[in-house]
Amino acid sequence: SIPLGYFGGIGAASKNGILFKGSNFLDQITRIDTVVMDKTGTLTKGVFEVQDVVADNLEKNDFVQMVAALEAHSNHPIAQAIVKYAGDTFKELSIAEVEEIPGHGLKGKINDNQTILAGNEKLLYKFNIPFDEKLSMLSDTTVLVAINGKFAGYIIIADTLKEDAKIAIKALYDAKIKTLVMLSGDKQIVVDRIADQLGLDKAVGGLLPEDKVKEVERLKEEGRLIAFVGDGINDAPVVTVADVGMAMGGLGSDAAIEAADVVIQTDQPSKIVTAVKVGHVTKRIVW
Ligand code: ADP
Ligand code: MG
Repeated sequence: SIPLGYFGGIGAASKNGILFKGSNFLDQITRIDTVVMDKTGTLTKGVFEVQDVVADNLEKNDFVQMVAALEAHSNHPIAQAIVKYAGDTFKELSIAEVEEIPGHGLKGKINDNQTILAGNEKLLYKFNIPFDEKLSMLSDTTVLVAINGKFAGYIIIADTLKEDAKIAIKALYDAKIKTLVMLSGDKQIVVDRIADQLGLDKAVGGLLPEDKVKEVERLKEEGRLIAFVGDGINDAPVVTVADVGMAMGGLGSDAAIEAADVVIQTDQPSKIVTAVKVGHVTKRIVW
């Protein structure tokens, strides 16, 4: 039978907006020594804004309209930023055969027969499209665009840290979590800048969803006990593989929430340490 104290623990957590899907996870979370976090939507707001547009040959506005017509077929926060920035007129453009390539970006056909690509470096490499390597050095998220097999320009997009992200990281270290890691599909230079701001031990960018799983499996092989915290559709596999899988419910996708052992029902990363603390308090009551 489940000791009474666990019901108290689950109740206390739920008053704090944290849903434990079983009393075993209250216990497990007290043993965690490593917390692995997703970047976009977990530590950053996941609300992007267009900062700058550079079009090589096309009129800037025409370029934006074409990219927005393609991005209108994606739910990615990057896509939403571009669509919002473009206004409404892109709806007159005809777009077809849209394909979303996870961790890369989008591909489609525009104005009947022109191919259009919008995404990161990996996407352009995949389709053998040359571009200025200096663009990889920009420390903001950059959407590279190719039209008919030729590089056509780029859109710079920025996301901001959540208000309590820094506090959350400090509180986790104070709670004796040994290692904090950030994993992201975004490029390394953006990931490094954010890791620096937060004071993280380790941050790996350029990862596909399956790479995040491998990274967590590798950390487990080092004998660590791992909590993973993520929000995205792409995060469900890695949430499953962690010792304690956590989903941020504020913006979180249903798939990640479904896969999680613990759901944080707000979008505050500081709730990660609250969950750990509730686990410790419960343990003291139970034993
Ligand atoms: P994260 O791990 O940061 O949540 P994702 O795996 O969702 O990131 O995406 C990784 C990268 O793939 C993004 O940083 C972006 O470069 C690219 N990408 C994904 N979807 C899109 C899209 N709809 N438009 C442009 N780029 C995209
Ligand atoms: Mg994400």
